[in-house]
Amino acid sequence: MPQFKVAIVGAGPAGYFAAQALQNLQTEQLSFTIDMIERLPTPWGLVRSGVAPDHPKIKTVSKVFEKVATNDGFNLYGNIELGKDISIEVLMEKYDAVVIATGSANGKRLGIPGEELPGSISAAEFVPWYNGHPDFANFNPELDCDTAVVIGAGNVAMDVARMLALDPSELDETDTALHAIDALKKSAIRTVIISARRGPEHAAFTSPELRDLPKLEHTNVWMSKTEIEAAIIRTGDSPEKDVKSNLDAMLLIADREPTNHDRTMRFHFLATPIEIKGNDRVEEVVFQKTGSDETFSIECGLVITAIGYEAESIDGVPYEKGKVLNTEGRVEENLYVVGWAKRGPSGVIGTNKSDAAAVINLLVEDLKEPKPVFNLSSLITTDKVISQSHWESINSAEIAAGEPHGKPRIKAVSREELLRLGGL
Ligand code: NAP
Repeated sequence: MPQFKVAIVGAGPAGYFAAQALQNLQTEQLSFTIDMIERLPTPWGLVRSGVAPDHPKIKTVSKVFEKVATNDGFNLYGNIELGKDISIEVLMEKYDAVVIATGSANGKRLGIPGEELPGSISAAEFVPWYNGHPDFANFNPELDCDTAVVIGAGNVAMDVARMLALDPSELDETDTALHAIDALKKSAIRTVIISARRGPEHAAFTSPELRDLPKLEHTNVWMSKTEIEAAIIRTGDSPEKDVKSNLDAMLLIADREPTNHDRTMRFHFLATPIEIKGNDRVEEVVFQKTGSDETFSIECGLVITAIGYEAESIDGVPYEKGKVLNTEGRVEENLYVVGWAKRGPSGVIGTNKSDAAAVINLLVEDLKEPKPVFNLSSLITTDKVISQSHWESINSAEIAAGEPHGKPRIKAVSREELLRLGGL
């Protein structure tokens, strides 16, 4: 029976859902060997280094990934970097099909004066820092100030603001990187302002995230009732379901009596950032009241931009406007793309399931004769390859380390430590 070999580059949600879609299409007449190549010594992409650690339920999707990984014909090749340990050209030559699932790792920039000042950082740095991503272990966010401004009105801005505004003792039972819990416990930040350039009715937050906010035990969450009511009037009698649900959730927040916690998270709508000012570091953000000439400033020592992401370009792969250039996931010849690298940084983790399945259907339609059999190990120079069983050793060691502390795991952060736990 024809057995095709498919390489998937990137072991995040989109990569696993692509592998799952291939496995689901297997029949007695058709089977796949899947080699999943990952730059880090650990798989799971954003489920490990993106999802907020105080939202552990979202991470349970990793069980699906582990089921895919233990099916016949699946091989993990972790700690292998595309462009360094192997090229896209070689993959395309040897495999019947290659699927790029490398996500969007670079934070979009505002492009306003002062953005380069110390104290002005991106969620694309802050999030992997608190999640123990090896590349951000030494990133030191400026937490020595009273006020932080988060720019953007999406779920990433919300995660970032919550992580800054909650009492860090609430993180003790999570898998937040230990270095981040330590730094957040020493943080002087007591006021976190989320600024949105448009009104509440246009915010990209989703309502479950808004409805979670009042559950913060040690943080006063504040929204202006006048602003929310004005948005409700602007949306008229039949707002879209999601907008209505968001506005209802916002109204619940705005209606709450203020508490006397010393930590506050405040929402500021219709605020377009135009400049970040400071001598040696961030001292204030200047905003324009959206739709008017009026400007105002917020003094702060930290600004975190959470306004979306762009995919990193890959040598030999066409790229345009922060994405891999593609038509419905087809890139060229036997090359395909799924997930955020394909469609941009939108949707929740589950969105990648149907997205990947649609691309895999096209990939399977395009298949011809299987190419000659080979082993990827023979094409890569490094011997420090993390296989599924190495990863299982890392996974068990992290879970065991967390157990006595009531944590789901304690993440190893350095590459060396991860390789050691894997037995390499
Ligand atoms: P997002 O949902 O696209 O939100 C980006 C926000 O940045 C928008 O409010 C946008 O405002 C604003 N923005 C863009 N350019 C701006 C600029 N130049 N100045 C000021 N504001 C600007 O992106 P995200 O928050 O990065 O999230 C990415 C995806 O991951 C989303 O689909 C999100 O739902 C998902 N996610 C889900 C969860 C969860 O389920 N818990 C957690 C995290 C992320 P405009 O609308 O005005 O452009």
